Amino acid sequence: MTAFDSFPLGRPAFVTNILDRAAHLRGSDEKLFALEGHRDARAYVVHRDSLVVKQDAGGPRVLLTIDEALKYGANPGTIFLGLRDGAAVFGMGISAASVEKLLTRDDVAVTELRGMAMQGAVPPEQLSAIAMAKSMVSWHQRHGYCANCGTRTAMKEGGWKRDCPSCKAEHFPRTDPVVIMLVTSGEKCLLGRQKQFPAGMWSCLAGFVEAAETIEDAVRREIFEESGICCTDVNYYMTQPWPYPSSLMIGCTARATTEDIIVDHMELEDARWFDRAEATLMIKREHPDGLAGPHPFAIAHHLLGRWLHEGPDAPA
Ligand SMILES: [Zn+2]
Repeated sequence: MTAFDSFPLGRPAFVTNILDRAAHLRGSDEKLFALEGHRDARAYVVHRDSLVVKQDAGGPRVLLTIDEALKYGANPGTIFLGLRDGAAVFGMGISAASVEKLLTRDDVAVTELRGMAMQGAVPPEQLSAIAMAKSMVSWHQRHGYCANCGTRTAMKEGGWKRDCPSCKAEHFPRTDPVVIMLVTSGEKCLLGRQKQFPAGMWSCLAGFVEAAETIEDAVRREIFEESGICCTDVNYYMTQPWPYPSSLMIGCTARATTEDIIVDHMELEDARWFDRAEATLMIKREHPDGLAGPHPFAIAHHLLGRWLHEGPDAPA
């Protein structure tokens, strides 16, 4: 049995968080210091899109002790992600130079997160916490200076804020909303291909929500811009945090009111209608021409899978 024998498969990646965020602790440096010094404290060490993984005799381990993290060269500034069974879990960044040194070791790997998620190499319940660490480390690395006055800012509240000592502006980690939608017309669904997709892969269309825009308007606008299709009856399905670097994918469905496709080739390589039989072969990875649907770790797989299961007349 393969991952594609049933669909939709379980839940998408990054949606089940094992951590209690324990936000009430963020304001106390004293409590955070004590939690970090406790022997049960652990850290995810993140470098760009990769994670430092300890290779134990029993298999790979993604949660490092604080001592291990510092010994490997992780930056000392810890970001408090939350509590797991009462013990604190932190996110830590690491420099490219330290990663270079780790690559010479047999007992440590630096592994790309997306690959680990797709291969099931990380316990699924840990993926969301790792996504938190990745997004937060990335935000701190990119927002070291005040956007208001240019002064170096300081990490506060366990990493959930940066303060400017000069103009007193407060800066908070951002999450960027993205709509991703399955558009259907009776027995057909609209899928697109981006140039960077693997050969043969098709998925739902998606795009960033713009300033002062509703989710519904963003869905209709993105679909029209990328494919020339007009649609209506926009409905929310579910969301998926997407730590590249810090998006929230808002999964929606919509019903097309037109069928003639005009592809925006700046955005997409191609877009076309697929009937239910062909989309089923694609999502099960059984298409005779090698066409494939989105991977089960992505929300697009679940949008498509639900439609294939429930049919075009299912209630929204
Ligand atoms: Zn400032």
